[in-house]
Amino acid sequence: MKKKFYVSTPIYYVNDVPHIGHTCTTVATDIIARYQKLLGKDVFSLTGTDEHGAKVAQAAEEKGLSPQKFCDQISENFREIWSKLNINYDYFIRTTNPKHKKIVQEIIQKIYKNGDIYRGKYEGLYCVGCEKFITENELTNDCCPLHPNEKIQKQSEENYFFKLSKYAPLLIKAIEDPKNKYHYQISPQSKREEVLSKLKRGVDDLSISRANVPWGIPIPWDKSQTIYVWVDALINYYSALKINQKEEFWPANLHFLAKDILWFHAVIWEAMLISAKIPLPKEVFVHSFYMIDGQKMSKSLGNVISPQELLKRYGVDGTRYLIASSFPYDSDSDVGWKRFTEKYNADLANGIGNLVARVAKLCEKADFKTQKLSGSYFQSGKTKEYRKALDEYRFNEALAFVWEKISQADKYIDNKKPWTLRGKELEKVLQPLVKEIQEISFLIKPFLPEASEKIEKQFSGKIKSEKPLFPRIE
Ligand SMILES: [Zn+2]
Repeated sequence: MKKKFYVSTPIYYVNDVPHIGHTCTTVATDIIARYQKLLGKDVFSLTGTDEHGAKVAQAAEEKGLSPQKFCDQISENFREIWSKLNINYDYFIRTTNPKHKKIVQEIIQKIYKNGDIYRGKYEGLYCVGCEKFITENELTNDCCPLHPNEKIQKQSEENYFFKLSKYAPLLIKAIEDPKNKYHYQISPQSKREEVLSKLKRGVDDLSISRANVPWGIPIPWDKSQTIYVWVDALINYYSALKINQKEEFWPANLHFLAKDILWFHAVIWEAMLISAKIPLPKEVFVHSFYMIDGQKMSKSLGNVISPQELLKRYGVDGTRYLIASSFPYDSDSDVGWKRFTEKYNADLANGIGNLVARVAKLCEKADFKTQKLSGSYFQSGKTKEYRKALDEYRFNEALAFVWEKISQADKYIDNKKPWTLRGKELEKVLQPLVKEIQEISFLIKPFLPEASEKIEKQFSGKIKSEKPLFPRIE
């Protein structure tokens, strides 16, 4: 039987339009899913939209739409852009799906039954922008640091609380001890340390319901309260499988996300699952952010990069390549239009595109026929370094491995000067070169699926010149 691999992106909050941050997480997850398929695994890959909460209701009202209609539209925007980016997900979950709502209520009910939910009074500061409570210490100029233009609200209400504090010692053990029955991995290492030290400083219980947010899922035993949007959202990873009758994929192999939502995914989610007696995901991987020309990306600075704009300039594979090669692994990664264009021209137009065109032209003149690439190539020792890089989500290193092959092939051509050769001599020089192109084409599959398919086609049977894969951008 095939090994299973279940990977998820976070579900994106619908009050926002897709930007390069969402694009980064989603493209990276798609690369992982495609790579796991190449390894021969049975893969389930999930993405979706998070559609409840006060902020969504507010945004809908501003547009004069019902919250549901508003969610339908924004959710469609996400689906459309992912399809343009060749994201091959297996399911797109929406938290307004009635089946999801029912499963959320069942799990909350289970946690309640286990004695981990109690009624209490909450008094504190709430940022609607973040949809979370924040402490006085976290404020900058009396505002949430992420939402300097939004008013912080003082809230005092009766809520239901989840006994998160009770689970902190258990979670510390689970993270630290690989033999612990609840063990799960948080990577990279720096993020694991961050979570552990915060857990060790002590954790408060978590308010998991709201009294005045009607756009949400009702608490099953008290319809006057709705479930906190984050609690509702986290359950999507589990409900998506139930909805699709794919429970055999649980527990998830990998939740892939950005660092601003680390705590929810590496602590709150696991505590909820332990309480509900559901097995824990195996790994939570957290990437950093993009900086745009040295600055934080923000609407007020007007430097937000959209996937639409990336696609327009660089095409599908160009965008995927630029995202993967600048992937913010465990520190922020600085990008910008100028550097993107330079990298596109250097690595795609002049790099792989030029090599493929060069070799095709030589083969065309030589009346050359190809042999198929051996199926064992990918699993062989030759690709070990590449696979290790991808096993650790080090996209840049995997790409460096491929681009080293490209540069070696270019050198080989310069040395052998095949344009001076004919007949058998020429064939002898071209044979390994064509094999090299086939290997390169195989290795770029997870990253550049379209280009890979084109090259594969071009280098099977009689080889001919084709249109440039990546036209230069001036
Ligand atoms: Zn905020």
